[in-house]
Amino acid sequence: MTNANTRSLYHIAIAVNNIEEAEKLYESALGLKVTHREVIEDQGVRASMLEPEGGGTAIELLEPLHENSPISKFLEKRGEGIHHIAFLVDDLVSALEELKKEGVRLIDESPRVGAHYTRVAFIHPKALNGVLIELAEKEKKDG
Ligand code: ZN
Repeated sequence: MTNANTRSLYHIAIAVNNIEEAEKLYESALGLKVTHREVIEDQGVRASMLEPEGGGTAIELLEPLHENSPISKFLEKRGEGIHHIAFLVDDLVSALEELKKEGVRLIDESPRVGAHYTRVAFIHPKALNGVLIELAEKEKKDG
């Protein structure tokens, strides 16, 4: 395996109706702390990142900004719950190239802007047993 291929669990994303309430619940029930909040107009979502103190896999809460948000559609169809699982890659472009070569069905053929200073691409849930998978590459910048 090349470096571009290493994938580690980054976050688990949960679609919610009310992000403020969900933040409180996840903080009090699981001892997580909100480390980042962001509105991604492009995707029609409000996102919060919650992390365990001392590091570890994060939880991403997603609330729709409007009715046309993909999260609205998800909530209508399935209600609140796990929306996707994200893995970190070192090199998203080459990870996507490899998946294309392997014939894996993608939602995004090329990276788009994600939350929390990342570039992301989604793999189609039909390709991975009904689970929507996000691949994320962290922006390389300090401070
Ligand atoms: Zn995500």
